Amino acid sequence: MPKYVYDFTEGNKDLKDLLGGKGANLAEMTNLGLPVPPGFTITSEACRRFLEEEALPEGLEEEITEHLDALESRMGRRLGQADDPLLVSVRSGAKFSMPGMMDTVLNIGLNDESVHGLAKQAGGNERFAWDSYRRLIQMFGKTVQGIDGELFDGALEELKGGRDDLELDAADFQRLVTTYKGIVKDQTGEDFPADPYRQMSMATKAVFESWNAPRAVIYRRQERIPTDLGTAVNICSMVFGNWGMDSGTGVAFTRDPGTGHQGVYGDYLQNAQGEDVVAGIRNTISLQDLEGIDKPVYDELMKIMDKLENHYRDLCDIEFTVERGKLWMLQTRVGKRTPGAAFRIAVQLVDQGMIDIDEAMTRVTGAQLAQLMFPRFAKDAESKVITKGMNASPGAAVGKAVFSTDRAVELAARGESVILVSRETTPDDLAGMIAAQGVLTSRGGKTSHAAVVARGMGKTCVCGAEELEVSVTERRFTAPGGVVVSEGDVISIDGTNGAVYLGEVPVVASPVMEYFEGSGELGDEDELVQAVHRIMSHADASRRLEVRANADNAEDSARARRFGAQGVGLCRTEHMFLGDRRRLVEDLVLATSSEEREQALAALKPLQESDFTEIFQEMEGLPVTIRLIDPPLHEFLPDYTELSVKVALAGDRADEKDRKLLAAVKRLHEQNPMLGLRGVRLGLVIPGLFAMQVRAIAEAAKAVPGARAEVMIPLVGAVQELEHVRDEAQEILAEVGVEALIGTMIEVPRAALTAGQIAEAAQFFSFGTNDLTQMTWGFSRDDVEAAFFSKYLELGVFGVSPFETLDRDGVGRLVLLAVEEGRRTRPDLKLGICGEHGGDPDSIHFCHQAGLDYVSCSPFRIPVARLEAGRAALIGAGSDTR
Ligand code: ADP
Ligand code: MG
Ligand code: MG
Repeated sequence: MPKYVYDFTEGNKDLKDLLGGKGANLAEMTNLGLPVPPGFTITSEACRRFLEEEALPEGLEEEITEHLDALESRMGRRLGQADDPLLVSVRSGAKFSMPGMMDTVLNIGLNDESVHGLAKQAGGNERFAWDSYRRLIQMFGKTVQGIDGELFDGALEELKGGRDDLELDAADFQRLVTTYKGIVKDQTGEDFPADPYRQMSMATKAVFESWNAPRAVIYRRQERIPTDLGTAVNICSMVFGNWGMDSGTGVAFTRDPGTGHQGVYGDYLQNAQGEDVVAGIRNTISLQDLEGIDKPVYDELMKIMDKLENHYRDLCDIEFTVERGKLWMLQTRVGKRTPGAAFRIAVQLVDQGMIDIDEAMTRVTGAQLAQLMFPRFAKDAESKVITKGMNASPGAAVGKAVFSTDRAVELAARGESVILVSRETTPDDLAGMIAAQGVLTSRGGKTSHAAVVARGMGKTCVCGAEELEVSVTERRFTAPGGVVVSEGDVISIDGTNGAVYLGEVPVVASPVMEYFEGSGELGDEDELVQAVHRIMSHADASRRLEVRANADNAEDSARARRFGAQGVGLCRTEHMFLGDRRRLVEDLVLATSSEEREQALAALKPLQESDFTEIFQEMEGLPVTIRLIDPPLHEFLPDYTELSVKVALAGDRADEKDRKLLAAVKRLHEQNPMLGLRGVRLGLVIPGLFAMQVRAIAEAAKAVPGARAEVMIPLVGAVQELEHVRDEAQEILAEVGVEALIGTMIEVPRAALTAGQIAEAAQFFSFGTNDLTQMTWGFSRDDVEAAFFSKYLELGVFGVSPFETLDRDGVGRLVLLAVEEGRRTRPDLKLGICGEHGGDPDSIHFCHQAGLDYVSCSPFRIPVARLEAGRAALIGAGSDTR
């Protein structure tokens, strides 16, 4: 039988899979000799078994009893013992931190008898005992029994009648306990469970079950956390921050999670328990002020923070409680941070000698880099600042104000940009936060729910905005000076400095973007840009994968070079048939004789040639892979319905060309264009089309000294198709007198399956994983994304869209097969990928592992690809790219 329960003294920080992040780190702190209230952790494996079997796994109860017995003898009192109760918290904690996602119940063990024992042990502090008891019923009722939390909150508000919670006395809380018990009885039909052991086991099961709570499911989907990990449960003896004014509870960071700078950073609340500090019930004081209140505790905390940072060699965040002048550590973890802070901290730690640059590179991600490339507000913009709040999560967000999650989701689904405005957010607002461009709250600080979650998502957030009156029911807010903003009014929020503007503020490029857009040299002393530069340089030195760009014109090619592209991996020639060149394509389609056809092609050729020339010039001798025309020709013709209306309206006077075009559109119409007359098929059916393109490429290459052309044939499924095109192309190249590689896309499953044969005729393969994904799954992207993808994600058919991240199990196997068999035929076969996956972190790691030579992606993704290719070379298989 597996071991399901670990005492805090038995675990360590590397056991996150089993003990969850919270449990593993509680164990680590315990073993570091820090003051952690004793307790034990029930493993996530027990949770998984429980969820599968819908019952506690065999042996678990006995094991829990054993550990609880040990805890009780160590503490010298029994759980809920009437005259001197041991109380515990039952805390969830999964492998990945999921802020506010899972539920925790404090003060387990209190009932009508032990509440008196607690008061007595607290030197007659009745207020404290009854406050603790009402908190238990409230949390237990809400999280374990599923009672609407509003009922409890409402009763509390009513009792307070506008008073501060500090003004409530023992009798008030005792009354509240009676009211709360009434609510429980009312809602469940049963009395609040008085038996401490029953309280504990009900709470444990509830934590297990909360793994599947809808908001936890949404969060995991958003963060790409696997659905089957389960959560551990921590049973931790209680310490009390609500004992009196010499007690309190707080949160702290070892560095500023917004900038990475070292300093004292955190919030503290006297005479309070648990979540009070983040829930915004009273205004918190800064951690700095704790020094004035209790110097010894403050000094000890500083020492511990230092120790933790040195031990974890990273920014840590911390939860602590002070019980009558004694400091207790309740949680720590390597803290979430903004993307900018991630880069800064990684490099700061290198400079402080805590980590090396290799490790620094593993500590940042391509997703974070992408965030840093977003624009920000123009400095000199003359917009009206209506209020300021805390700069909780950086970025520049513009959108219509909305006041509920539902509205946010609704408007975002229509493609509108929205800013979610509320007093404070709760886990129930998650969907709205995901849908919104940014979040604005009127309460709470940098450690509030909104701030923590927004930072984790890389979403712009301003919180605790000054004098902001939010009315959710009237869907509007009032800012200082009487400015009223109603639902639908556009506002702009700056998560970097906390400003809130009325109207739309213009945005400008980020300094990181300017750095990439520049020469790659350092222009200024910006710490962030320096950090990015150092890590990018190291990534370039470390990576094996080359990075190329998908670029169709000179402008994209130039940007790609600035961003560090080592070539063009995909130049789509069909874009060169659009605009005023459509007319020429129409002529080609309508040609009835070879003479007419040749004329049409001859008209197109110089245009193509000059396009290629410009690209070759920009790329200065770097390889340029040019794909011959891929889409079906009807895509270049007028719309069938429009054209038939036009012809019908004109009647007898209809234009001759229009009539012919209409006939051609009818003739070329396809039921499934994705699987129709396109790519190499088109090249084989329309004489002279591919030849014209190859000649244009050859002559352009000849005209630009050093140009390196690679001719790529799309949609090949059989080596015979490729042979025909290759033979013709080789003749033309020889005629013009230039050399160029000739290769093919691997994007039809049959091409992957017969890669060994195809490599006989191809000097390179480029995996077109968009089409390969469509054809492997048998669905067309344009049709399915709207039709059923959200359902599939919900059902867990896939964790993430296979168009976003390469499906390793299916499409990935075809790639691996083609790599192996292609190289067996032709050992020097060049291999790349040019689907959108070429810019996706996880897919880039796959490409590295598969042994490809390069990835090709859109110019803006190139820095991300460079970084992830560097990380892939370092981290190896199964790496975490989130
Ligand atoms: P979360 O995962 O939401 O942070 P926690 O399990 O950390 O949930 O607990 C919620 C709050 O209760 C935190 O503020 C935590 O510090 C506090 N808390 C948890 N266990 C105890 C305990 N044994 N004694 C005092 N406070 C506790
Ligand atoms: Mg916590
Ligand atoms: Mg394709």
